[in-house]
Amino acid sequence: MPVGEEFFNRKRKELGVSLNDVQKRAVLNIEGPLLLLASPGSGKTTTLIMKIGYLIEEVGLEPARIKAVTFSNASANDMKERYQRFFPTLPPVEFSTIHSLAFQVVREYFYKKQIQYHIIEGSDPSRFNKKLLLRDLFKAVNHKSITDEQLEELLTYISLIKNKLVPQDKWSTISCDVPNALQIFQKYERFKRSGTDQLLVDYDDMLTIANQAFGKDHAILAKYQQKYDYLLTDESQDTSFVQHAIIEKLVQKHQNLCVVADDDQSIYSWRAAEPQYLLNFQKVYPDAQILMMEQNYRSSQDIVSVANTFIKQNKNRYNKNMFTENPTHTPITLKTLADYQYQSNYLIDQISKEENLREIAVLYRNNASSILLLDALDKAHIPFYMKDANNRFFSHWIVEDILNFMRLSYDVKRVDIFERIYSKFHLYLKKSHIQQLKRPSHESVFDRLLKSTDLQEWQKEKVKAYQSRYHQMQKKTPFQVILMIREEFGYEKVMKKMSEKLGFKMDYLLEVLNTLEEIAKSTQSMVEFANRLDHLASLLKTSKYNKQQNAITLSTFHSAKGLEFAKVYMIDLIKGVIPTQSEEDQLEEGKSEEMEEAVRLFYVGMTRAKTHLELLSYSKRFGKKVSPSKFVRDVKRIISPEEFQKSHPTKTAIPKNKARQQKNGNADQTNAIKDPAKFLVGLKIKHRIFGIGEITYRTDDTMKIRFEKYSKTLSVDTCLEHGLIEAVDSIS
Ligand code: ATP
Ligand code: MG
Repeated sequence: MPVGEEFFNRKRKELGVSLNDVQKRAVLNIEGPLLLLASPGSGKTTTLIMKIGYLIEEVGLEPARIKAVTFSNASANDMKERYQRFFPTLPPVEFSTIHSLAFQVVREYFYKKQIQYHIIEGSDPSRFNKKLLLRDLFKAVNHKSITDEQLEELLTYISLIKNKLVPQDKWSTISCDVPNALQIFQKYERFKRSGTDQLLVDYDDMLTIANQAFGKDHAILAKYQQKYDYLLTDESQDTSFVQHAIIEKLVQKHQNLCVVADDDQSIYSWRAAEPQYLLNFQKVYPDAQILMMEQNYRSSQDIVSVANTFIKQNKNRYNKNMFTENPTHTPITLKTLADYQYQSNYLIDQISKEENLREIAVLYRNNASSILLLDALDKAHIPFYMKDANNRFFSHWIVEDILNFMRLSYDVKRVDIFERIYSKFHLYLKKSHIQQLKRPSHESVFDRLLKSTDLQEWQKEKVKAYQSRYHQMQKKTPFQVILMIREEFGYEKVMKKMSEKLGFKMDYLLEVLNTLEEIAKSTQSMVEFANRLDHLASLLKTSKYNKQQNAITLSTFHSAKGLEFAKVYMIDLIKGVIPTQSEEDQLEEGKSEEMEEAVRLFYVGMTRAKTHLELLSYSKRFGKKVSPSKFVRDVKRIISPEEFQKSHPTKTAIPKNKARQQKNGNADQTNAIKDPAKFLVGLKIKHRIFGIGEITYRTDDTMKIRFEKYSKTLSVDTCLEHGLIEAVDSIS
């Protein structure tokens, strides 16, 4: 009997899992480096777990001498669960993130060197909290407060530099839109080291310090090298450079390493994932075996064939051909609802019919998508599990403002509340006015302002107007109150000013206010509205404990990586959300990296579904017209090209481009090619931005054009839509 066959037979009987030939080879290949590069649902994680079982049951390795790492804590837990399901009688194996492995090393290294340290992650409001520290430094450098978006961007920038191990003299080559980011980063680094009694350390430092420790302290390196006989890494397409460096050092001696990855599912390049490393794997490990797996066991024929065509629009990838022997089931459903509001109702309608909620997932790009859904699910008593819930919405300053406007109506004498929002009334009050109001009195803040001697007549007129609206407020529903605050109080103007002054994204601010309005619609009093918000916030917090229950999963595309569900609903698939405007703009400028990452993200979402996949978009959102995502159109075209052609007749150039056209000194685009069939290899063309070139390669969706100095791959759709290309002969 061939090696391992007894093990495989036993597992087939015990677990009903019968590995295919490549999977078996991956399990049996236990000496030296192995790269398993494979499509979604091809059994990468399954193979990895089987391999661990094989190493223990057949090769006789001690479980504690095997280390398996993956991208996130949640994924590490998923792997642990799968291992326990497959091998319930075996002792535990260490599943963790590389971060937690690095932390072990750092702890030991600091202990040895007697270095005191303090971790500055988390939300401990002490002075040494990473976010607070960066907020302070931003203010010190830029003399204004940092916005949440800027803070996110700054954190990503710092992570990127650390994870890519960018040397200090090259920091300036990494760009960041946050003003003076480099200076802030330099100060941040200095500050962390400036304490006399302890070193401040963030999560990224743990990786760089562990890597350094391995480089400098040979005893520690040797200890960890001897600790493990075998190392396995899952989801390795999202491993960063410094993480690869740590792993390399760990396995230097025996090189017993199994790396499992799918470059098409690399979705963290903004956080320094290094999928390119996989392409160099054989350079790093010359003895490496590389195995490919393309058969998908997870999804129906319908899903696999569409997803496989969809991902091929990306050019920067290992060319794989995902296929399946699974039967067809249900065609992918594409739904464009008339209005955003119908999306939650539709989902509730669908999900209410289901019994096994654990097999259902609703996936979205941004966490903000979950708030109204949360409201609707709660009303319909449908339990849900949310992996990466955060409180960003409920703690937003707009939510606080609206609640404070409302609170004041219950007691118009409350100066403490008025003080929190006075700058949002268009009264131009000074701090001194508020100080005056703080003197004891039984009158309302408005009456007292009206008596104030240093308010001008026009200010008093406004005070009277606000006062009369506050009289009416108690009789109104919360929805009407928000409308009043928004329009009659001029709150939307306040938001606009704040966005201009402080750099908030106005679109997001409007989203927050619109969402509040929606939640308010079903409440009758302001107290009920405030309680509802409280209730939803706590529901959000506790939803992460619902994992073991019969609950649906709500998740971002990012956090759904590695998971599978019978039914998947991908929601909010509209232009601007996926792809984002910036991803589209980058592509138009000829930079395709961001768009390719968005394509991969969409692909990760689609490939989570086993039998039923629905893509939801809509034509209107909060009264504004919106268009379905380009990716939904791509899928539509893949599923039924003829129908797509009928509903999307060949496009002509649109007016939006007039401005750019004029900027480029070419006011007439009537000669632009409007028929995609004319983009033939060999055709000499003139591109409105890049100039004269020749088409050298063509697929359904893209074409490669050689210009004078470089070649570019351009989207056929974009070129048609914007009338970017003329045949050279037609240029006079
Ligand atoms: P992802 O890329 O999404 O992480 P993956 O490659 O890790 O996917 P798995 O999650 O291991 O794939 O497997 C996907 C599904 O296919 C699972 O339900 C698993 O049980 C099943 N599967 C894997 N290999 C086989 C096989 N040889 N025969 C039958 N089913 C299999
Ligand atoms: Mg997996």
